[in-house]
Amino acid sequence: MSTATAPRRTVERSQLERAIERAMKLGVEVMGHGRMKGSHQRVYLVPSQRDPERHWHIVRVAGNRLICDCASRVVCCHRGAVHMHLIVAAAEQEAHAAQISAELEHERLEAAADAADEPMRYWLNGGEWDAS
Ligand SMILES: [Zn+2]
Repeated sequence: MSTATAPRRTVERSQLERAIERAMKLGVEVMGHGRMKGSHQRVYLVPSQRDPERHWHIVRVAGNRLICDCASRVVCCHRGAVHMHLIVAAAEQEAHAAQISAELEHERLEAAADAADEPMRYWLNGGEWDAS
């Protein structure tokens, strides 16, 4: 079973790589996104290379699959463009989460430094408690 699926996965990966290369070469990128009414599936709007001004393709996210409405039988550049878009969005979210973690750590260190200063403030104010 695993020997039968491994080559297929390799083929799909290379198709995806080619689709991403085509999307980058043609400048095909996600221009809009939203959710389907009812199913709430995420959908992405990608311009068609045939007529980028007036013709669009819709790529749906169904579980772990990207489904495009175009006629391509291989991984199309529309799915490649959405895949790239999702990777970039995930990287941006991860970077933002790291920034939030750094800020929380900064706040924790500041609070710890403030707490360490309290005996000094108490002493400077002649034993009067300074709540400011
Ligand atoms: Zn497509």
